Amino acid sequence: MKSKKYFLLFGITFVFLLLSYTILFLPTESKTTIPNEQRVQSLQTNKNEFKEPLELHPTNENSYSNSDEIKVEKKVFITFDDGPSTITPPILELLKKHNVPASFFVVGKNMEENPEIVQRAYNEGHMILTHSYTHDYSIYTSLESFYDDFSKAEEVYHEVLNKEPPNLFRFPGGSSNHSSFAYGGKQLMPKLTRDIKKKGYTYIDWNVSSGDAGPHANDGVSMEESIVEYSEDNNLVVLLFHDTPNNNTTAEILPNIISYYKNQGYQFRSFRDVTESELNKMKHLQIANKIIEHK
Ligand SMILES: [Zn+2]
Repeated sequence: MKSKKYFLLFGITFVFLLLSYTILFLPTESKTTIPNEQRVQSLQTNKNEFKEPLELHPTNENSYSNSDEIKVEKKVFITFDDGPSTITPPILELLKKHNVPASFFVVGKNMEENPEIVQRAYNEGHMILTHSYTHDYSIYTSLESFYDDFSKAEEVYHEVLNKEPPNLFRFPGGSSNHSSFAYGGKQLMPKLTRDIKKKGYTYIDWNVSSGDAGPHANDGVSMEESIVEYSEDNNLVVLLFHDTPNNNTTAEILPNIISYYKNQGYQFRSFRDVTESELNKMKHLQIANKIIEHK
């Protein structure tokens, strides 16, 4: 009896010791100890391993900005109206510095006064387009008075640049202006826009305004905010600035605006080499050849 009891006790002790050994000393994965520092490092290594393939994934928006392989779909056309003026050369300097092309819708009489500025802009790769000769809203008295002024703008264009004026232009005040009402009545712009399209011209408006001809003309912060607000969700932006005298704020905010579009992955375009598909998209978005109807 006694030996049986001892045998049982020995057996229980043996099993207990065997279990303890297994738990304490056998190298299982969960028991493998890694110093804390090493653990953090190993986690970071893992994170880095994942970082690159994730950035190359096409659904990751950031991958669009600096990749030449993925087609850039966002485009911005920066346009300046009503020049040239004393503010145009500093603007040209900035555009050159940032390697950005722009389009200038020039006023004929300003072009006559500053032919060298227009020539310089053209020689530096920008586009020059017409924007009337006088920019006086009385041109909207009749179709005749409009075309008189329009032809004069084209003549000056030819004289200064020794080139055929393009069939792209911008109406003073834009195609949906109300300034014409006082001269030719409400039906002048609907009639004129239909007529000029038939003549083979395309008129260009804008879908983002800098506000530099409005009450916030000297408020750079407000101008920048407005540009960003209206550019968001727009893959095709035609941005309106004015290179008129004293519009110093326009030149001051230009580098920030260029950086904004660069960071957002936009491609800078000008009307100098605008494609048919870009013009079609502008027509579709009613930035070009907008249908004008006034009741
Ligand atoms: Zn204008």
